[in-house]
Amino acid sequence: MGMDATTYFMQRAIERLNISENLAKSLKLPHRVIKTEITFLLDNGKLVNYNGYRIQHNNALGPMKGGLRYHPTVNEDELTSLASLMTWKTSLLGLPFGGAKGGISCDPTTLSSSELERLTKTFIDKIKDLIGPSKDILAPDVNTNSQTMAWIMAEYSKTVGFSPGVVTGKPVFLYGSEGREAATGNGVAIVTEKLLSLDKKQLNDTRIVIQGFGNVGSHTAQALYEKGAKIIAVSDVKGGIFQKNGIDIPALKKHVAKTGSVIHFQTSDAITNAQLLATECDVLIPAALGNVFDKESANTVNCQYIIEAANGPTLPEGDEIFKNRGIKVLPDILANSAGVTVSYFEWVQNIQKFKWTLEQVQSQLNTFITKAFDNVINIANSQKCSYREAAFLISIKRVLESSQALGL
Ligand code: GLU
Repeated sequence: MGMDATTYFMQRAIERLNISENLAKSLKLPHRVIKTEITFLLDNGKLVNYNGYRIQHNNALGPMKGGLRYHPTVNEDELTSLASLMTWKTSLLGLPFGGAKGGISCDPTTLSSSELERLTKTFIDKIKDLIGPSKDILAPDVNTNSQTMAWIMAEYSKTVGFSPGVVTGKPVFLYGSEGREAATGNGVAIVTEKLLSLDKKQLNDTRIVIQGFGNVGSHTAQALYEKGAKIIAVSDVKGGIFQKNGIDIPALKKHVAKTGSVIHFQTSDAITNAQLLATECDVLIPAALGNVFDKESANTVNCQYIIEAANGPTLPEGDEIFKNRGIKVLPDILANSAGVTVSYFEWVQNIQKFKWTLEQVQSQLNTFITKAFDNVINIANSQKCSYREAAFLISIKRVLESSQALGL
């Protein structure tokens, strides 16, 4: 395997820092890799096995933190790259966390709710000694949600004692935080608005294309729609839709709730994923899986700005092309960081045994996001580098400083 995208982006920032090769290596490699076999009974009585992973990348800034995803493409290499990304994301935002990522290689669309519950609880039973509110805190990611988190809390608490702080993104009525579910999408909208305003542009009438309509994509679309932007194309796993004059997002959400997909919405035109990515627009927002922008798709995009709501959408060759084409890219570790930031607030509330109001969550979120955004812009300007390099530079410096003081 060649160098993964996260390691490549780290390397670019590290070249600007004067550190030894071995120290750099210690920042790149994961602290611990957990791979476990999950065996459980399907509803029909058949025994099945899946591979479950938790990659704990770095804990110099605090307990490790990151999502858990269920997808057939889940594998150790990609999770390691995503775990590393979490280390840099939490560091960039100034959160007292390290980074981790987990996943189960399965197709959750073929599993019933009780099968998903057994899958989740069997996995947590296997890794319970290595996670916890002060070790490693899990959260929703691709194809997992507040229900998954409730199952994790239940299974973990069974042996360890009542511990809501082992997961974030729980149901609001079950020790979850106000504002967590919509946080990532709302944060994407906040930073999109901020980025445009640097060029004296407004969201009003800005044409936006969004790839993905899951938790992140749909909340991003809703938040941008409310701010007056025109969402002209969206997609999900089943296909894409285009509407030149802008999609009625609240109506689309009702359509999705009813039919399970964005396709066949009102009078929209059907488009393919490749067409969606090449649609002429102002802002393109990948909000699905990673590895979207390779050499080919990076050359066909027809936008001025890319906001990385997904984790790892841009491959190194894509990044190079965007730079040469003058397309401004707001990197994932900043663009989608509101999710883990509100996860931090949830964890704080669990530890404090005190509930914040939605207003408190939103005001604190604004403070954290604004600080990180301004920091990235300032460093990019002073170092004459891309936003991604600036973001990695800031976050790697923080982890390095702590690691050195701790004597790791
Ligand atoms: N899965 C989300 C992410 O990639 C959230 C992680 C978290 O809240 O811990 O940032």
